[in-house]
Amino acid sequence: MCGIFGIYNHQEASNLVYLGLYALQHRGQESAGIVSSDHRQLHHYRQMGLVSEVFTREILKRLSGRNAIGHVRYSTAGSSELKNAQPFVVDYHRGTLAIAHNGNLTNASLIRSELESRGSIFQSNMDTEVIVHLIARYKEKTLIERTVHALKQVEGAYSLLILTEREMIVARDPFGFRPLVLGQLKGAPVVASETCAFDLIGAKFVREIEPGEILLIDEQGTKSFKPFPQRQRHQCIFEFIYFARPDSFIFNRNVYGVRKSFGAQLAREAPVEVDMVVPIPDSGFPATLGYSAQSKIPLELGMIRNHYIGRTFIEPEQRIRHFGVKIKLNPVKELLKNKRIVTVDDSIVRATTSRKINKMFRNAGAKEIHVRISSPPITHPCFFGIDTPKRSELIASSHEVKEIQKFINASSLNYLSLEGLKKCVKEDAESFCYACFTGDYPLPFQMELE
Ligand code: AMP
Repeated sequence: MCGIFGIYNHQEASNLVYLGLYALQHRGQESAGIVSSDHRQLHHYRQMGLVSEVFTREILKRLSGRNAIGHVRYSTAGSSELKNAQPFVVDYHRGTLAIAHNGNLTNASLIRSELESRGSIFQSNMDTEVIVHLIARYKEKTLIERTVHALKQVEGAYSLLILTEREMIVARDPFGFRPLVLGQLKGAPVVASETCAFDLIGAKFVREIEPGEILLIDEQGTKSFKPFPQRQRHQCIFEFIYFARPDSFIFNRNVYGVRKSFGAQLAREAPVEVDMVVPIPDSGFPATLGYSAQSKIPLELGMIRNHYIGRTFIEPEQRIRHFGVKIKLNPVKELLKNKRIVTVDDSIVRATTSRKINKMFRNAGAKEIHVRISSPPITHPCFFGIDTPKRSELIASSHEVKEIQKFINASSLNYLSLEGLKKCVKEDAESFCYACFTGDYPLPFQMELE
């Protein structure tokens, strides 16, 4: 769960990266960083906090040069502290190199112990750092050759940006787990996790970076390399369910449209006779619209969100998270009194949120609360970059739907079926990773990750 953004050869490079990161803030709220290059040296600044808190006009001014990359982070590998904030910057015998990574490597600790046994000293506990060490060690002449060599050793999910004094490299893993899109701003190439970042800066969307594709961007222009054998795609379906912003276009589709179709399919699979459909803000909105349109049950905003706080799930402390739901959401009592409602949310992870929300609905006087979830039960953790808790904390890994219904105190509970979910992404259905619902992991991973 991270967002990355880069731009090459633009006079406002670091200001534009700042804005790009602003648009990608939903992908990570722990730390933010920008590295720029003025063709002679790199300048960098990273700090814990939100983009708006981390950067000031003065700091951005110091990040001079026409090329820059940036990162917003939510830790899925490595702890939440400054030394793990990105972009990660190293000096080595050929110069300086910065890297920004979205995704999780599944063989990083194996490579790391090998490297450490041969004398490498690591500065962080991030999986990303192994890529840097591998690039620095290889003897090949060009950066692109060394990068290809390094990426051939690592396994797992990566969408990444590398910046040196004069070049920028963009890469997406051969399975395409995480999104990565290419755009253009007045002739300058821009790269981002999602297209919503292009909209903010007025850049034109060009295309998605292909799985397994590596771009080298330098003064000569942009060159594309495809050094890996072609693989079956495993794009993360959870980007569509929850993670990406609805206004983005990724994996060949607009996220909003896909989410709406999940809701419509859910209404076909699990209809119910009630007075109103109520979205759980904000992630449940598009699916609720789909549910309401398909079922012809009127939509009402029965739960109001306070927008001036972060996402509650993001708070690492369980105690704070519990309190968080109440600070964040409040029901409209006058609307709900003695009503039968169906609520739509995108997912249940631990089920603590649903339980609290239903309690609020009951206290507000709702007579029946039917819960509909626009994804299948999450039974397995993700090792490819989505922050899901360990298996024992995922309620659906050890409880039947009926038991979860009881736990959250709902009048009924239905999840979208896996078949229904696949139907909504039609002809591309086999290009997605569904491991969090099936346990069918597309790649082996080291047990210690689990
Ligand atoms: P829970 O109480 O753990 O079941 O939380 C479920 C809520 O968290 C849902 O409303 C989702 O919108 C949201 N959610 C789902 N997956 C994630 C995630 N990986 N990170 C943060 N929030 C999530």
